Amino acid sequence: MKVKTFSGGYKLKRFQGQPQDKIIECDLPSEVSIPMSQGFGSELLPSVKVGDKVSRGQIIACDDNKTSSPIHSSVSGIVTAIEKKNYFKRELTMVTIKTGADDGCLKLEGATVRWDKLPNKKIEELLYKSGVSSLDREGIPTSFKTSIIGPEAVEDLIIHGVGSEAYNTSLDILLAGRNLYNFIEGIKILMKIMPKAKVHLAFNKEKKKILERIKKLTTKFTNFSIYPVVPKYPQGYDEVLVPTLLGKRFPYGYSAANIGIVVLNIQAVLKVFEAVGQGKPLIERIVSLCGPSFKENIHIKVRVGTSLEHLLKDRLKDGPCRIILNSLFTGANLNNLSLPVNRTYSQIIAIPESSQRHFLAFARAGMHTDSFSRTFLSAATTTKKIPNTNMRGDERPCIQCGYCSEVCPVAIMPTLIDRYIKLGINENLLRYGIFNCIECNLCTYVCPSKVLLGQHLKAAKIKLIEIGCDQSLCIVPRFDFKEFDEYKGVKKLR
Ligand code: SF4
Ligand code: SF4
Repeated sequence: MKVKTFSGGYKLKRFQGQPQDKIIECDLPSEVSIPMSQGFGSELLPSVKVGDKVSRGQIIACDDNKTSSPIHSSVSGIVTAIEKKNYFKRELTMVTIKTGADDGCLKLEGATVRWDKLPNKKIEELLYKSGVSSLDREGIPTSFKTSIIGPEAVEDLIIHGVGSEAYNTSLDILLAGRNLYNFIEGIKILMKIMPKAKVHLAFNKEKKKILERIKKLTTKFTNFSIYPVVPKYPQGYDEVLVPTLLGKRFPYGYSAANIGIVVLNIQAVLKVFEAVGQGKPLIERIVSLCGPSFKENIHIKVRVGTSLEHLLKDRLKDGPCRIILNSLFTGANLNNLSLPVNRTYSQIIAIPESSQRHFLAFARAGMHTDSFSRTFLSAATTTKKIPNTNMRGDERPCIQCGYCSEVCPVAIMPTLIDRYIKLGINENLLRYGIFNCIECNLCTYVCPSKVLLGQHLKAAKIKLIEIGCDQSLCIVPRFDFKEFDEYKGVKKLR
């Protein structure tokens, strides 16, 4: 198996607070609050009303005509409120359910471990009805409106367990025991409903034992390849996986599905088997608690709709901290702890708030603080990096070290683009590929002068779109996009 990697990137190592290989179940909350849109898809109207009794696993919102998957109650109980709340900068309807006596989880009708005997339409219906089809960035294609392409149109399916972020959910935990076999079954189910797709598994090359076991279990698979990959950040991004594995250009700003490629992570494939083989609706997630502000870094199984307050109770150390969702570099800050966990949660990161300034901070090598400059100490293998929110000095003039361009995974020159942003020369922003930026923030992280490059580029892209720049015309080469008119609301390129 040939190891694959890409130019640029950065190996994020030894961040203190990695989740251990331990998983526990979160106590049942007294109530859950379930958003009527969860990540991918449109907002749905609830099919229940205040006072209704619901069971665990019961569908409480569904609309076959909308680009979405049904939403389920994650507990048995009584609906106590249906109201709009601000959720990730959107006004969303939430259904609040007071937890009552558990009467068991409703199973999906027709699910069976002999799923190979089921017609594809039935498998697709199970994926849709379970809510699993809404997982990952663009959903799983079915004959329902769960993705921008149908399952027969998928040319390549990429499954990844890369672990290239500063904090990663443990692959050993996700694929422990029976789960490894369930994962293999999940791949087979996806192969059945996407008959034309070549399947590519990108897996962290450092996880040699699991890789060997997967290899043994898939020897008879056709149209299936395994690629050990270097876990450099941001290898797990669709925009980086597609060129690394398939050697294809990515339509930056759009999705892999626009060019016939579906990208799924390990948790999504496990959920595919749970839906089709075991009839489980998507009502819980495994979330890893990462970072130095947690008392214990573990994985926790939590019901969708559980408030962060309940999930984090007694788990944080004393002192102020910042709580971030899913990615240390790009995740949203979770400021309101009364809001609930949804289907998209995979990590909660807590790092200490710190505003203390250090004298000549930028010149320090950084033993335990994370050094933003390259020093021989960055290569030390024993020290742990303790991230906090301290910027360690304000933005300083660029010293033209070129490090930001060196690490950029899409080979643009952030420092040059930043200069043209300051000068307001929009043609040059387009010429030097501002729309290719995938907002990974790696340039900001490595810059020794603390220039907020990633944030500057993101703000400039928004401004360009606001003044009428058609981003689709800035992507080279032109792509044969699949059925995205309805989905993205943009014209097809000719
Ligand atoms: S944020 Fe954009 S410019 Fe910066 S490294 Fe990532 S892709 Fe490159
Ligand atoms: S912006 Fe920062 S990383 Fe990029 S060249 Fe300037 S000093 Fe170096």
